Amino acid sequence: MSAQSPPSPGRDDVLDLTRELLRIDTINPPGNEREAAEVALAYARSHGLDGDLQPLGDSRANLRLVLRGEGEQAPIMYCGHLDTVPLGTAPWTRPPHAAEVEEDGVLWGRGAVDMKGGLAAMLVGLTTLARTGTRPPGDVHLLATAGEEVDCAGARAARDAGLLEGVGGLVIAEPTDLDLVVAHKGALFLEFVTRGRAAHGSMPDQGVNAITHMTTLLDRLSALDLGSATDPLLGGPTASVGTVQGGSVVNIVPDRCTAQVDLRSVPGVDHAVLLQRIERMLSELALTVPDFDARMTVTGDYAAVGTDPGEPLVRTAREVLAGVLGRPPGTSGVSYFSDASILQPGTGLPTVLCGPGDPNLAHQTDERVHVDDLRRAAEFFTLLPLAPRS
Ligand SMILES: [Zn+2]
Repeated sequence: MSAQSPPSPGRDDVLDLTRELLRIDTINPPGNEREAAEVALAYARSHGLDGDLQPLGDSRANLRLVLRGEGEQAPIMYCGHLDTVPLGTAPWTRPPHAAEVEEDGVLWGRGAVDMKGGLAAMLVGLTTLARTGTRPPGDVHLLATAGEEVDCAGARAARDAGLLEGVGGLVIAEPTDLDLVVAHKGALFLEFVTRGRAAHGSMPDQGVNAITHMTTLLDRLSALDLGSATDPLLGGPTASVGTVQGGSVVNIVPDRCTAQVDLRSVPGVDHAVLLQRIERMLSELALTVPDFDARMTVTGDYAAVGTDPGEPLVRTAREVLAGVLGRPPGTSGVSYFSDASILQPGTGLPTVLCGPGDPNLAHQTDERVHVDDLRRAAEFFTLLPLAPRS
């Protein structure tokens, strides 16, 4: 980096790019992220930064960009997702794909917060460095994923293709109100099915009641040790029964019941160990409860992620962000999960989440972000790769 003033994004770069991305409908399902990935790639190329798409079917793709550095510092990866959640049923004050800007500097649209604003800020950070010929002391990758809002399909494909090889740190621009988030919970979504035997409701002893067995199962599950780990930022693991369905009419003993359970884990809870514990519980019930028949299916598996706040990546991010904000940033944990649940486990990669926008507005009607926060984020993502991490 030269002795001159550090590179800085153009005043409206991040606003213009965010608006362009907001006008492309990437509601997931079905996603259709390819068009947004192509727009982002064309933008990168117009500023001298190259990359490629990782196709995921006809209308879906990840985007990967690389800015080459010239030092020994381990590469970092910027990551953001291209898809958004659906619009919900309540009417919007502003059209959700028009990217309208209010005079007081608020940008409206589905994805403004979660997380086209953050993704655009990362991209502007890299193109600002490329455009000004600035070479950071290590490579910087950008991965824009498809599918995060449903099953993290894009992150899984990127991981399986080895796109993280050699990377030494992960920064994800999920909305954190420009706090540094160093931990988030994991999730394990489970579906249980109990089977019984139908009989006339007046003769329940002739049948096997699948709902009764499900009640026994859920009671036992709620008493199960989910792992003793508690996290200073996240608290302990939780379990919530989301759905129960069983029976058809009042006077037939139900022969089938299903339930979906949402387990949230914290760093230190191994999902494989937790699943073994639940399988063992089901085996014990089968041995002790007459005619007990239950099956479990894992419908979602997202690991908890935690990074020591003393890690060089976190310390450096804190210093750079403090300079941008003019105050020390907060350090926190969040209960939602991210692509880091797929990208980080097994790698030991230091991981931070930091992005513009109020996380409480994510997934909401009238999602919107302050343009000044987009600008601060773009400045942060321009300067972070230039700071030595030690
Ligand atoms: Zn998100």
